[in-house]
Amino acid sequence: MTTVAVNGATGRMGRTVIETAADRDDVDAVVGFDVADADEVQGVPILDAENVAEGLAEYDPDVVIDFTIPEATLALADACVEAGVGMVVGTTGFSDDGFDRLQAASESVPLLKATNFARGVHALLRAIGEALEAVPEYDLELMETHHNGKVDAPSGTAKTILDTVQDHRDVEPVYGREGHAPREDDEIGVFARRAGDIRGEHELIAAGNDEVLSLSHHAEDRGVFAAGALDAADWLAGRDAEWYEFGDVIDAE
Ligand code: NAD
Repeated sequence: MTTVAVNGATGRMGRTVIETAADRDDVDAVVGFDVADADEVQGVPILDAENVAEGLAEYDPDVVIDFTIPEATLALADACVEAGVGMVVGTTGFSDDGFDRLQAASESVPLLKATNFARGVHALLRAIGEALEAVPEYDLELMETHHNGKVDAPSGTAKTILDTVQDHRDVEPVYGREGHAPREDDEIGVFARRAGDIRGEHELIAAGNDEVLSLSHHAEDRGVFAAGALDAADWLAGRDAEWYEFGDVIDAE
């Protein structure tokens, strides 16, 4: 049984992680942290995030799963390094400096970061690499849609898709278009829509030669991300201090 703490425990994802863990027998959510005022989520005690160090010492989780905001993740990383506790990071929107600080933490504790814990997105990334080899000249455009509470744009997943595209094609992102904005051959338009409670949609189109190829993924429930993050936590527990990605979990299966 892998014991996990959840940072951001009262948020959309944190709650879902705790609820999903309650239905599994390989992982046990033992404590949550948040700045929001709450005593418990589904029977799991919630501590003020200011007391993370004390909470880690008291509950001694194998891994902390984090779905918060970058500043909160970085503060948590300091506490995890101090306590020697591994981290699964789902939070997106890090600056380059923030990303470097997370990588530095992975020299002291095992740290797995993924912009998307849906297995289908992992499959999508692989499919994109293969597809682009077959349509080297086609125009590419990337769209993502999320709920109206999402703060970073474009999504971390869209950025990961862009990185994957750029591994195969020399294209520069253009974030939205307005006014006189003719398309250049080497650009990829990137568009972020925010509405309602849409869990997460990503679509890459490749168009040319009288055809349009569409590669897309829709998350139907936050449970898909929670399940992947819990799988990652279970896999990470007891591993060496290193930087890991969700693909490492899937490749090991
Ligand atoms: P949310 O706003 O619903 O929840 C964030 C929670 O973090 C809130 O409860 C907030 O009070 C808490 N928080 C803020 N500051 C904190 C601090 N200093 N310490 C502890 N908790 C703090 O957001 P959400 O929809 O749950 O998304 C959270 C993050 O996860 C976002 O970056 C989002 O992009 C990302 N996300 C990633 C995946 C993935 O698969 N990797 C999936 C969904 C969302």
